[in-house]
Amino acid sequence: MFEVVNQPPPLEPYNLFASDAVLRAAVEREGASWADRELGVLGGKLGEPDTVALGFAANRNPPQLKSFDRFGHRVDEVEFHPAWHAMLAIACEAGLHSSPWAKPQKGAHVARAAGTYMLTQIESGVYCPVAMTYGSVPTLKQAPEVAAEWLPRLFARRYDPRFAPASEKGSALIGMGMTENQGGSDLRSNVTRAEPANGAFRLYGHKWFMSAPMCDAFLVLAQSAKGLSCFLMPRWTPDGARNAVRINRLKDKLGNKSNASSEVEFEGAFAQLIGEEGRGIPTIIEMSNYTRLDCAIGSSGLMRAALAQALHHARHRTAFQKKLIDQPLMENVLADLALECEAATVLTFRLARAYDEADDASLAIRRALTPAAKFWICKRAPFLALEAMEVLGGNGYVEESVLPRIYREMPVNSIWEGSGNVMCLDVLRAIARIPKADEVLRGELDCGDKRVAQAADRLLQRLSAPERNDEAQARALVRELVLALQAALLVKHAPAAVADAFCATRLDGEGGGSVFGLLPLGINARAILERAAPAA
Ligand SMILES: Cc1cc2nc3c(=O)[nH]c(=O)nc-3n(C[C@H](O)[C@H](O)[C@H](O)COP(=O)(O)OP(=O)(O)OC[C@H]3O[C@@H](n4cnc5c(N)ncnc54)[C@H](O)[C@@H]3O)c2cc1C
Repeated sequence: MFEVVNQPPPLEPYNLFASDAVLRAAVEREGASWADRELGVLGGKLGEPDTVALGFAANRNPPQLKSFDRFGHRVDEVEFHPAWHAMLAIACEAGLHSSPWAKPQKGAHVARAAGTYMLTQIESGVYCPVAMTYGSVPTLKQAPEVAAEWLPRLFARRYDPRFAPASEKGSALIGMGMTENQGGSDLRSNVTRAEPANGAFRLYGHKWFMSAPMCDAFLVLAQSAKGLSCFLMPRWTPDGARNAVRINRLKDKLGNKSNASSEVEFEGAFAQLIGEEGRGIPTIIEMSNYTRLDCAIGSSGLMRAALAQALHHARHRTAFQKKLIDQPLMENVLADLALECEAATVLTFRLARAYDEADDASLAIRRALTPAAKFWICKRAPFLALEAMEVLGGNGYVEESVLPRIYREMPVNSIWEGSGNVMCLDVLRAIARIPKADEVLRGELDCGDKRVAQAADRLLQRLSAPERNDEAQARALVRELVLALQAALLVKHAPAAVADAFCATRLDGEGGGSVFGLLPLGINARAILERAAPAA
C-alpha cells in the first residue's frame, strides 16, 4: 500500500465567521456588530464536519418527484433527502428566512446577509426557499389580511418538513412562480389566468420554473380581468384539501442539485389577490429586489468558499520544494482571487445596509445598485470558482473537494431573478428615474483617492452623455459603475495593499474581464493573502 503524503488536511472544523476577517469587518462597519455572537455560533455550526457532510449528502441525493401514492391518487409531492431538511432547519433556526422582518432593528438585514453568506458556503440549494421567503414579506404586506394570517408562520424559526396545511404546522416557507414557458424576462407575456371565485381566485395555466415546490405557498403572477396580478397560492386550500397544483416534472439542472425546480400546471388552484389587481409586476418586484440582493450575497459567499479552499490547499501542498502559496506565480493568482472576493463582499454588505435604511440615498442605492451588484458579482463568480479549482490541481476537479459543486452552482445566481442583460437594462432605467442619481453616486464614490476620483469622473461623464441610455453599452456601463464603487469601498475600508492592487488592476477600463493572476509588479500579494487566509 502506498503512503499518502503531501495531501492537505480537510478544512474542517472551521468557523466560517471567526475565520473570515473581511466578513467580520463588513458586519461591524455596516451596523450589525450586535449579531457577532450569534453569527459566530452559526459560523461554527456550519463549519462542523457533520454539517459539511449534510451539504454533500443533500447534493448527492437529489429530490424525487412523487406524482401518485401507491393507490393511484395524485399527490404531487417532492421527496427530499433528510440532509436537505436538516440544512433547512439550521437556516430557519438562525432566522435567515425572515429575521429582519420578525425582529426589525438597525443592521438586521446586514446580520441576516452575513448568515446567508455563510449558509451558502456549505449548502446552496436550501438558500432558494430561504431567499424567497425572506423576499416575500414586503409583497405579502400589501394584502393586510393575508399577511396577518401568514407572517406569524414565516417568522417562526422551527422548520416543519411535513407536507400539511400551513395552519397545522405553525411555520411556513414561501416560493414563487413567475416564469412561463414562453418567457421569463418579459413577464407581461404571462398567460396563466385568474378567475374570481367566492371572494378569492382560481388559477388556470402553468409555470415553467417553480423552485422548491414543497414550500407552503407561492407568490404567483396571473392575468385577471384587470391585467397581470399577483396572488398567493397555498399548496393546501383553506378547507384542508390539496390545492390543484400539478407538478409535471423536475428540471434536470446543471447544479443546485439538492433543490427541486419544477414545471407545474394549475387546474383551478385556489389563490388570494396580493396588492392591487392589474399591478402584479410592481407588487412582486418588491420581492425580487430582495431575492436579487440574495443572488449577490450567495455568489459572494460561494466565492469566499472557493477562495478558502484554494488558500487552505496552497498553504499545505508542496510542489518543487516549496508550499504552493510560496510559489510567486501562485501567490499572484491567489492574491488576485482574494481581491475579487473582498471586492464582492464589501459591495454586497454596503448594499445590504441600504436595506436597513430608509433615506432617499439608501432607496436610490437599493434601486440602482441591486441589479448592478447582482450582474457583476454573479458574472465574476464562475471565473473565480474555476481558477480556485485549478489551485487544487486534479483534486479540485473531484467532487469530494466541493469545488465542482461550487462551480456548477455559480451560474444560477446570474440567470434567475433577471439574467445579466435584464439586470443591466434595469440599471439604466433606475439611473434615468432616480432624482439626483449622479449626486448619490458621487457621494458613494467620494473616498479622497485620485485613482477612484478619475474613474468616478469618467463614469459620471458617461452617465450624462447623450448615449447614456444606449442598451448595447449597458454592460460596459454597469462594469464601470461597479468597479468604481468596489474601488471606493476598498480604499475606505480595506488595507492599502488590497485597495492599491484593486485600483491597479481593475480601474483601467479593461479590469475585471480577463484571467486571474495578472497582478503587476509592486503589489503586496503577501499582505493580501494574510488578510484572506481562513484559520483552520
Ligand atoms: C435553477 C433555476 C431556478 C429557477 N426558479 C424559478 C422560480 O422559482 N420561479 C420563477 O418564476 N422562475 C424561476 N426560474 C426562472 C428564471 O427566473 C428565468 O429563467 C429567467 O428570469 C430568464 O427567463 P427565461 O428563461 O424565460 O429567458 P428569456 O426571458 O427568454 O431570456 C433569455 C436571455 O435573453 C436575455 N434578454 C431578455 N430580454 C432582453 C433584452 N430586452 N435585451 C437583451 N437581452 C435580453 C436575458 O437576459 C437572457 O439572457 C429559475 C431558473 C433557474 C435556472
